[in-house]
Amino acid sequence: MKIGYVYSPLFLKHSAAGHPEAPQRLEAITQVWQDTRLLDNLVAIEPTPATDKDILRVHSQKHLNTIEYANRRGGLQIDGDTYMNEFSRDAAYLAAGAAMNAVDAVMTGVVDASFSLARPPGHHATRDLAMGFCLVNNVAVAAQYAIDNYNLERVLVMDFDVHHGNGTQDIFYASPNVYYFSTHRYPFYPGSGHWRDIGAEQGRGYTFNVPMPHSVGNEQFARVFDDLLYPAMARYQPQLVLVSAGYDAHWADPLGALTLLDATGYAYMTRVLHNIAREFSQGRIAFILEGGYNFDALGWSSYATVQALLGKPVTDDPLGAPPREERDISELIEHLQGVHQLV
Ligand SMILES: [Zn+2]
Repeated sequence: MKIGYVYSPLFLKHSAAGHPEAPQRLEAITQVWQDTRLLDNLVAIEPTPATDKDILRVHSQKHLNTIEYANRRGGLQIDGDTYMNEFSRDAAYLAAGAAMNAVDAVMTGVVDASFSLARPPGHHATRDLAMGFCLVNNVAVAAQYAIDNYNLERVLVMDFDVHHGNGTQDIFYASPNVYYFSTHRYPFYPGSGHWRDIGAEQGRGYTFNVPMPHSVGNEQFARVFDDLLYPAMARYQPQLVLVSAGYDAHWADPLGALTLLDATGYAYMTRVLHNIAREFSQGRIAFILEGGYNFDALGWSSYATVQALLGKPVTDDPLGAPPREERDISELIEHLQGVHQLV
């Protein structure tokens, strides 16, 4: 099992004082991966920046103009949570390129699986709008690139970030070529992600939202993956698995809103995703980093993800097990099985 990771120090230069979406996030990941010697077993992939043309596959010219305008001014506060400094434009283009590089690496067989360790994150960015710490929608750029460049017709984007990926959903809402499956706290930022939203027009049935109450953890997430994601993918037969890997549903995350995953939960979810990739997608799977704001939790949960891909056991979380009992979401799961006609 050969696993590649895409990384550049340029990703550390996008920063704003006191902001949770900070360079220390990536430093924490690389630190854990180094300390555990995980990095010794991985293939380093040098990222290449996306071009305007790549980004215009899923964003409008107006959106590029906004980013260019902010860049010319040396940075700009785009909204209450979303900032750009003098390096942000280049970091965002490189982050989108890194997601494409992660796709290339698995599509060409250079590696079996890949992980793009890039920031700024992407899943809130819509066709026209930077928001929620996100400038360019990296996973969306990568998905559309895979469709265009490798003639794919069915790409899964599974998003386990605690926030709903409104940008990714919007971009592909009317498309059957991308199946967007999201687990997220609801109601919560950014407000989207209702179970009723299942896609439109040609894309109807290809958006699957699992809106979760608080106190959902490892066991219930495992049921969502086994009883909803897996059967939905057995029907869809994705040719490539992309994962919007946000780690802010960890119990210790400051933005996680009482969601109760730990590293063992992320490992389990990874195994299901990997099984889906091996059964339907010739094993092709790429992880694209999204959120995760407790640095230790982010380091160890991303480590658990790669360990699981390598087939190694993940039996505990160095931060400890979730501090509370999780709640049962059987009713929600049964309801969603009905909505998506899985039984
Ligand atoms: Zn998030």
